[in-house]
Amino acid sequence: MLRLILGDQLNQKHAWFNETDNEVTYLMAEMRQETDYVKHHIQKVVGFFLAMRNFQEELSTKGHRFIYLKIGDDQNPQNLEKIIQKYVNETDAEKFEYQLPDEYRLDEQLKAICKGLSIETEAVDTEHFYTTRYEVKNFFSNKKQYLMESFYRMMRKKHDIMMVNDQPDGGKWNFDHSNRKKWTGKPEIPHERGFRKDVSVVSQEIKAAGIETIGNLDPKSYNWPTSRADSLSVLNYFCKNLLIYFGDYQDALHSEQKFLFHSRLSFAMNSKMISPKEVIDKVLDHCYEHTGHIHISQVEGFVRQILGWREYMRGMYWALMPNYGQYNKLDNQNKLPDFYWTGDTKMNCLKHAITQSLDEAYAHHIQRLMITGNYALLTQVHPDEIDAWYLGIYIDAIEWVEITNTRGMSQFADGGMIATKPYVSSANYIHKMGNYCSGCHYSHTKKLGENACPFNALYWNFLDEKKEHFRDNHRMNMMMSLLGKKDKQELAALKERANNIIEHPELF
Ligand code: FAD
Ligand code: SF4
Repeated sequence: MLRLILGDQLNQKHAWFNETDNEVTYLMAEMRQETDYVKHHIQKVVGFFLAMRNFQEELSTKGHRFIYLKIGDDQNPQNLEKIIQKYVNETDAEKFEYQLPDEYRLDEQLKAICKGLSIETEAVDTEHFYTTRYEVKNFFSNKKQYLMESFYRMMRKKHDIMMVNDQPDGGKWNFDHSNRKKWTGKPEIPHERGFRKDVSVVSQEIKAAGIETIGNLDPKSYNWPTSRADSLSVLNYFCKNLLIYFGDYQDALHSEQKFLFHSRLSFAMNSKMISPKEVIDKVLDHCYEHTGHIHISQVEGFVRQILGWREYMRGMYWALMPNYGQYNKLDNQNKLPDFYWTGDTKMNCLKHAITQSLDEAYAHHIQRLMITGNYALLTQVHPDEIDAWYLGIYIDAIEWVEITNTRGMSQFADGGMIATKPYVSSANYIHKMGNYCSGCHYSHTKKLGENACPFNALYWNFLDEKKEHFRDNHRMNMMMSLLGKKDKQELAALKERANNIIEHPELF
């Protein structure tokens, strides 16, 4: 029997590995098909290849039989169909099995490949998520809106997470309102966790194969988890050092602190080196062991991201694909400015968020949503352009979670299926949540004039340009009413400035 394991299916706890079996061969392959469908960050390609290699090594040591193709191997066909056909033949397999992929693209491809095989085939669950593929779809089947909050409450009850006698622990389902502090240097953020890896060999192999990548890499000092042990150590570090303030500073922005109190667990989870259940169990155990020390709001904020948002996004993806990938309900048509690939802009918030993304293959949620996403939406960038950027640049970017966050939450391209209103803001929000504005060429309080913050003109222009789309959205009523009260001359001047920014982003 031949069993395929994709690069984001590194679940060592899968039932497949409960026992060793000499009749089973596991097949893993680094391949151009996966490195080339979008231009990825170099740290992302390194991360996946190393995590795959470590996974194979650890399970081989336990006695499982593997065929593993490295990117530079001569006999590597570099394409999934050819690889499967080749090794079904070479191993004389009587059955082919695979774990259900999380991406629509691969799901379709594997179904087609199986049709072409003359042996028995079977797809099994990855045993990673709390939910099955279509659980979210079924949950919302008789509801008018896909509200994350109602799904989240159902999940808390169903899995008995932070529940006391059928009521939410702490008396509230959601502590979002207490999770909006600006970080001003205190409390101290403990130093970065320890491991630094030399990844020179794999990065050379990637270069030698001619794979085009984006972003920067210091091959002597790689900092992402690439094994299960690494992933568990990131989780432990988070529980011991960062969880205590996670909720409070979840939305904060800071020029000197790229990671603040965020966990950086997304890659470890999205590659399935650790499961969401392991993460939540560990966080809750830690919290209950330190009762009185860590406030429930910090933990609830974190649990909501994983039990709520992460599962919800995955379910929405399977409920709405393949059409979801084509949505552009606001009819945005502009190009993504070149500075998204260089960080070369005078706008300090964008400069920091983009430079950091290029350096670290990481930005935290509010940088993605309220800086790069906000600017792209305000400048009416085509969702395909911004989608490709997010899919390539972040180490955790896999389509099921990237596209739902980008087209849905960030770009409102689905017209409000995921977000109930577009996440747009003027400079006011960015100033309120961080310190970028104090080091900026522009003034966050000015709306017009050479040094007025571009976000301000863009904001009012966006609301005016897209007002027809928001006519029936009651969550936009206040913004629309403020727009209606704007002085006509001022609005015309703001629109003129906004159009200048949109047409000549390189000047700003
Ligand atoms: P933490 O802040 O520590 O949060 C803990 C965990 O919660 C994360 O590891 C993640 O697994 C989960 N989580 C938090 N928010 C979300 C969310 N909105 N959707 C799904 N899971 C969530 N996340 C990805 O994993 N891959 C992506 O490609 C991705 N693209 C995004 C694109 C945009 C435009 C936006 C606005 C968000 C995107 N996110 C994506 C969600 C979120 O920004 C990242 O999960 C988070 O920044 C990862 O860092 P962390 O592990 O330090 O998260
Ligand atoms: Fe960003 Fe405007 Fe603040 Fe500058 S002033 S950091 S461009 S929000």
